[in-house]
Amino acid sequence: MRTAHIITIGHELLIGDTVNTNASWIGQQLTDLGLEVVQIQTVGDDEQRLRDAIERGRSDADLLITTGGLGPTHDDITKKVVAELTGARMVVHEPTLKFIKKVFEKRNIPFTESNYQQAEVLDKAEVLFNKQGTAPGMWLHEDGVYIGILPGVPQEMKHLMREKILSKIGDLTEGRSQRFSRYLLTAGIGESTLSDRVIGSLGDYLDGEVAVAYLPSPQGVRIRVSAFGRDKSRVGKKLDAVCEHIYTQAGKYIVGEGKELTLSEGLGRLLRERHLSIAAAESCTGGLLMDTLTDIPGSSDYIAGGVVAYANRIKTNLLGVDEKDLATFGAVSKTVALQMAEAAGRRLEADIGVSTTGIAGPGGGTPEKPVGTVWIGYWSGERHFAIRALLTNDRLINKERSVAIALETVRRTLLDIEPMPYGLEVHPS
Ligand code: ATP
Ligand code: MG
Repeated sequence: MRTAHIITIGHELLIGDTVNTNASWIGQQLTDLGLEVVQIQTVGDDEQRLRDAIERGRSDADLLITTGGLGPTHDDITKKVVAELTGARMVVHEPTLKFIKKVFEKRNIPFTESNYQQAEVLDKAEVLFNKQGTAPGMWLHEDGVYIGILPGVPQEMKHLMREKILSKIGDLTEGRSQRFSRYLLTAGIGESTLSDRVIGSLGDYLDGEVAVAYLPSPQGVRIRVSAFGRDKSRVGKKLDAVCEHIYTQAGKYIVGEGKELTLSEGLGRLLRERHLSIAAAESCTGGLLMDTLTDIPGSSDYIAGGVVAYANRIKTNLLGVDEKDLATFGAVSKTVALQMAEAAGRRLEADIGVSTTGIAGPGGGTPEKPVGTVWIGYWSGERHFAIRALLTNDRLINKERSVAIALETVRRTLLDIEPMPYGLEVHPS
């Protein structure tokens, strides 16, 4: 097995109601296993077009994966089309039927005729039992091509890929080259500064086999170092050499390693290690900072709590921000950010208090305080400072960036790393 073809099915994918995350996720998994993904097709719920797409996929690759169109509604046509093309018959899969009936009973939903169709499978296929949903997946080998048929719901698709299909592909490609990767999450530095100025040319470390990719996101830039090979330990050594160089050049920007590691998880580990607690007083981020911090399981070990102090009277009444200072300097000011951070720490009884106050936009800017002006405050008893960021005109991006700056500010302060993120200046209290 060498090449793969992916077909994602559903009208919602064509009109942009649903972002086609299945295609990218499957593409990455198959690539990691050393397969060449030669094409991805997206088709609506249209029998003729799906037939054409499957024919094309079968003539083009050793493996064909489809997602979507397995549900009970009339627009779910995948099984019907594959049955026609492969000469398979539909039969009821008893274990699935029993499972669906039980699920319906539990939820107290009546079981209807169309639900029987959910339990129908192709007689030629191996059934991939789906305990996360009601539509089973299928796996068949027809005219030299392997075909995997999966539901569209991303969580169900991933479940069947991980539990059933990836190991089958692994067996069929055994002994062949696959992709091994290490992921380094950086924060508080832009992609181009990181790659051009900090890390610089990696020419001496890359020998044509190892590839380095910079993957930016609002929380930071993830660096993927990867190489194809058969021998995990040999490839691992090559990756290690490149990563070691990156650590030497950019160590202080690196939050940690992992494909899924986030900045708040990295900071959480640090807070836990040091037995420190954190609290937030948020204005322009509207709770997003607390939301991001609490995404991490077990974060109650180090999070005290947060206050969303949007209106000025909440800033004064709940946090004790000085009314005169609010009138003199405005809510978006160093003075207010400092007072909010200190109040978060002291009033919520945490070791560290962080605050955000800014003009998220798109309206509300002035010449001295343009849209995108954000003050982040930090208080810990030992240190008390604020930093100012000038972000974009986009409200949601500004909220996300403010959160990222706040998290990275805490991380760098705890680790004594200078400078602060994004080349921002520290304004002491
Ligand atoms: P079900 O039996 O649960 O209906 P299904 O195989 O019929 O599964 P679809 O009806 O095609 O799946 O899609 C179910 C949901 O999964 C849709 O609401 C859609 O938002 C999501 N989905 C479908 N395809 C994709 C995709 N390629 N990427 C991301 N999400 C998808
Ligand atoms: Mg459906």
